[in-house]
Amino acid sequence: MGLCFTRTYEIPITSATMKPPGQPALPPPPPPPRPTASTSTSLSINLSSSQIGPILEKPMVSISSLFALEKELGRGQFGVTYLCTERGSGRRYACKSVSKRKLASRSDVEDMRREVMILQHLTGQPNIVEFRGAYEDRQNVYLVMELCSGGELFDRIIAKGSYTERKAAAVCRDIVNVVHVCHFMGVMHRDLKPENFLLVSTHEDSPIKATDFGLSVFIEEGKSYRELVGSAYYVAPEVLLRNYGKEIDVWSAGVILYILLSGVPPFWAETEKGIFDAILQGHIDFKSAPWPSISPSAKDLIRKMLTQDPKKRITAAQALDHPWLKEDGEASDKPIDSAVLNRMKQFRAMNKLKKLALKVIAENLSEEDIKGLKQMFKNMDTDQSGTITYEELRTGLSRLGSKLTEAEVKQLMEAADVDRSGTIDYIEFITATMHRHKLEKDEHLLKAFQYFDKDNSGYITRDELRQAMTEYGMGDEATITEVLDDVDTDKDGKINYEEFVAMMRKGVHP
Ligand code: ADP
Ligand code: MG
Repeated sequence: MGLCFTRTYEIPITSATMKPPGQPALPPPPPPPRPTASTSTSLSINLSSSQIGPILEKPMVSISSLFALEKELGRGQFGVTYLCTERGSGRRYACKSVSKRKLASRSDVEDMRREVMILQHLTGQPNIVEFRGAYEDRQNVYLVMELCSGGELFDRIIAKGSYTERKAAAVCRDIVNVVHVCHFMGVMHRDLKPENFLLVSTHEDSPIKATDFGLSVFIEEGKSYRELVGSAYYVAPEVLLRNYGKEIDVWSAGVILYILLSGVPPFWAETEKGIFDAILQGHIDFKSAPWPSISPSAKDLIRKMLTQDPKKRITAAQALDHPWLKEDGEASDKPIDSAVLNRMKQFRAMNKLKKLALKVIAENLSEEDIKGLKQMFKNMDTDQSGTITYEELRTGLSRLGSKLTEAEVKQLMEAADVDRSGTIDYIEFITATMHRHKLEKDEHLLKAFQYFDKDNSGYITRDELRQAMTEYGMGDEATITEVLDDVDTDKDGKINYEEFVAMMRKGVHP
């Protein structure tokens, strides 16, 4: 594929520096043929009645005339999701905003349209987030949906009370139900992982909802899919063999179930390739703790969901009927070993602190710092997917005349790929390339460290960490304790710079 660089990438903007739509942080796209509208909301009516948006193919609107966008709720590979309040009704929603600068190619536009269409199609089903509307202005496409304010899937499990197989079964039932609903409605999800399930509220029996359909497709019966999509831990073997169908979602749900019962992913290795090898090999460890004390029925279901041959794999409908998964089925009330919870907490907390630190780093880079890296990223992202693979990184680096050895490239990839997805996105790339600069000067990591170390004491204290994590909505006491316990290797109750750096370089596995 030729090197045409049509995509651009956004740097994250915090809620504090967030500009209202119409004032992008980076230079706006080329001026449209029509007179440029002012950023003031009073012109929204003009704007909406005069122009059809190229993405959604309906009149553009000023989002701020309909919703007040507030703080950032989260960000993923493609968009930034904000809390928003509907003008008039005062009702609160979540609004996912995707910059049109990211929708440069025809297929990007199709992907965006498909995400909207699929959510619209699935809305109303249990365990699927409710669709409220899709809008477009000059800069962004907005997907407004039901607000899920209860946190992520793991938050529910870690919440107070004893953790039992019965609880795990209830969570798993919601997940398998999503798979079932999707397949029944003719949709293959393709990206099932814990992060894509959110809790509607913090209430103890809040429903779990799937929110992200960015990689989903309408199933064409008999068609064989080949795109390599998903996240490393959760990816089915036939995806790696590039010939798959909807059965891959059951596999991913099986991986989540294994984590729900043991706190660790079933297929794990230090490298992406190692994880893939383990998946293809397909050996499931039921020998280590806590497996001997988990019921045979739970293991039976996992085996059926993690069956290598997709044709022999249990379907979502059959899984819902499995004795362990059925409501009031075989899942017992016997508490699960507390070590499982601890591992899961660590797994989650470490990912969170790292992500937060990376975000701080990316945010603190100047426009000048970023310019070159942005171009470099685009150069390497030869298929313009928005992420770069190991292969792209390797060839990209050698094209740039880098003399890095294979092992060093691998290290770079591992250092960069925080979420172990097997690919590097823009933010990961920035921090990765900084790792290289950093070998000489640690100023960027130091900046991140200093961000947490508010009083410049040379330590990140419990209070400082709590403050930072609360600022980003991840600050429950238990999580902070977990993070401290794991990072604070010399056990003095605070984190020094060395420990911080070690944390940033360590793998995510508990
Ligand atoms: P991407 O396609 O970029 O991965 P997601 O749809 O997964 O985007 O959203 C990114 C993040 O935004 C999520 O991980 C979550 O933290 C937050 N988020 C998404 N949808 C909602 C929602 N309905 N309510 C609350 N937070 C949400
Ligand atoms: Mg997501």
